Amino acid sequence: MPLETWLPELRLPLIIAGPCSAESEEQVMETAEGIAGLPGVRFFRAGIWKPRTRPGAFEGVGTPGLKWLVKARERTGVRLTVEVANPRHVEEALDHGIDMLWIGARTVVNPFSIQEIGETIAGRDIPVMIKNPLNPDLKTWMGAIERLNAMGLKKLIAVHRGFSFFNRSPYRNAPMWEIPIELMRMHPNLPVLADPSHICGNRELIPGVMQKALDLEMHGLMIEVHPYPSKALTDKNQQVTPAQLGTFLSGLILRKDTPEPEFTGKLEELRSEIDKLDEELIDILARRMNVVEEIGEYKKDNRITILQLKRWNQIIHERVEAAVKMGLSREFIMKLLQAVHEEGIQRQIDVMNRLEK
Ligand code: PEP
Ligand code: MN
Repeated sequence: MPLETWLPELRLPLIIAGPCSAESEEQVMETAEGIAGLPGVRFFRAGIWKPRTRPGAFEGVGTPGLKWLVKARERTGVRLTVEVANPRHVEEALDHGIDMLWIGARTVVNPFSIQEIGETIAGRDIPVMIKNPLNPDLKTWMGAIERLNAMGLKKLIAVHRGFSFFNRSPYRNAPMWEIPIELMRMHPNLPVLADPSHICGNRELIPGVMQKALDLEMHGLMIEVHPYPSKALTDKNQQVTPAQLGTFLSGLILRKDTPEPEFTGKLEELRSEIDKLDEELIDILARRMNVVEEIGEYKKDNRITILQLKRWNQIIHERVEAAVKMGLSREFIMKLLQAVHEEGIQRQIDVMNRLEK
């Protein structure tokens, strides 16, 4: 269900802010008071039960923390959202009148958990945010959303928090923007927020990711905020102070998704140029694959292996140099060449198999 239908006073982007974890009543109050007046901030987030990757770390204050949150709402008017990972969390959150729930990355991977959580929420008119799973698997993410939707939960929001990889710098969780973009394409009425804090893992990178999310037409942002980030019990490197959040928010450029009429003509012209170039690209790629198949036939007749490493190295070297001279990035041209090469190899394998019959 589109956000504006159930959050009528909403002015995009929707901002959700608050500490990674609720740690003490003072910390909750100070954070809530610090963020309540900032532009766009509608919800206060705090982890009450913390899913920790390794044992022995701070696992959240548990149920008493819910009372601090309720007090913070009474004092500042900001609505509340907490993470739930099992039916007991849901019941306790609902008993305390929490306004919105979220399901974390570690829980979304498990359809049994989603089913149980969904059954406990079903029949209640409460919004639920679904973070992407840790692994870059759009189907699992969509599956969780669709499962909840099928149980009658209609106020659903997806949250993009990046995907876990071994050693993927500079981000803690690789954004892989193509995955949330595909989700938005497949579910155009589903609101999608970004969680730059967990994507970045490091506060310096956060403003750039906030802007990028909005430029991709995401509907809002969830940001971790702590009055004293360096003393935070969880995720200290990515939390920002309320004042820093204020600076980040005022630095955002809100671009329109539809241009003013006087720009439409120019935009149309440029778009038709892109359409034409894409047609040429497709034509060139198809012609290249035809040549690749001819080479495949020749290799088959002469019993030559498909992968010729020396030739492939030479192609990479020459093409990358040429592309860089034309202003394309090394990373981009490598990805493109690899995709073209992989498809070429597959075509030649098909040719070999076809000729063998
Ligand atoms: C969180 O928001 O604090 C959290 C634990 O997030 P995720 O499930 O995205 O890791
Ligand atoms: Mn966190």
